[in-house]
Amino acid sequence: MASLRIAHLYPEVLNLYGDKGNILCMERRLGWRGIECTTDLLPLGGEKKLAPYDLIFIGGGQDFDQRVVLDDLASGTAEELRAAAADGTTFLCICGGFQLMGNGYETADGRKWDFVGAVDCYTKGSPERMIGNYAFRLGEESGGSDVVGFENHSGRTHLGSGVKPLGTILRGNGNNGEDGTEGLRSDNVFCNYCHGPALPKNPAFCDLLLKTALERKYGSFTLDPLDDSDEDRAHDTMLSRVLAGTAEKDQ
Ligand code: GLN
Repeated sequence: MASLRIAHLYPEVLNLYGDKGNILCMERRLGWRGIECTTDLLPLGGEKKLAPYDLIFIGGGQDFDQRVVLDDLASGTAEELRAAAADGTTFLCICGGFQLMGNGYETADGRKWDFVGAVDCYTKGSPERMIGNYAFRLGEESGGSDVVGFENHSGRTHLGSGVKPLGTILRGNGNNGEDGTEGLRSDNVFCNYCHGPALPKNPAFCDLLLKTALERKYGSFTLDPLDDSDEDRAHDTMLSRVLAGTAEKDQ
């Protein structure tokens, strides 16, 4: 029986807006297909070995939460994250977790932190936060589907020259509210600003992540189709509200 091992990094610190719902969604969509899945919580402290994992999830957090993980990153976890990313492990990193995988972060009040450097991007905080329902379109190499969710960040992320955005903004801010990009994809590392949580109402995006991890482990892999009628209805309803600019009013 096929199986996947998932690691949830810093679940007690980086888990803003129910980001752990992404783990639940991946576990369900694997289970419904008869694919075994184990999820390990990797909290602060203690030695972490990431090579055994097929998929690593890092959620979002406030600036304070991101500062809290710095010592743990410096204790060897950053090296493990770089090695796992270089080895093709699948990652889903949301907002603060996205920023943490980049080269560094400068807070709105000027504090500078070195982050993991697993992907080439840099983030600068600002006094104005970017908050609201938003939508973006995945790049063709990621299936090209539309993703709808919620963003809340002060950080403006700019991508390095060698890195492609995960997608392009349809409505909202995305990486920095300036260049129309959202997130980044570097090999099998998928980063974006999508809270909500992101995956339950974006089933195509969830299955892309699962397929990426399964194909790395087993070579080619076909995911059996699921009845996504409820998920699609939620997705399409929110997407039409976001694109029409009525999402905030239609609560
Ligand atoms: N603290 C970061 C910022 O404000 C990330 C926020 C988040 O994870 N929602 O940009």
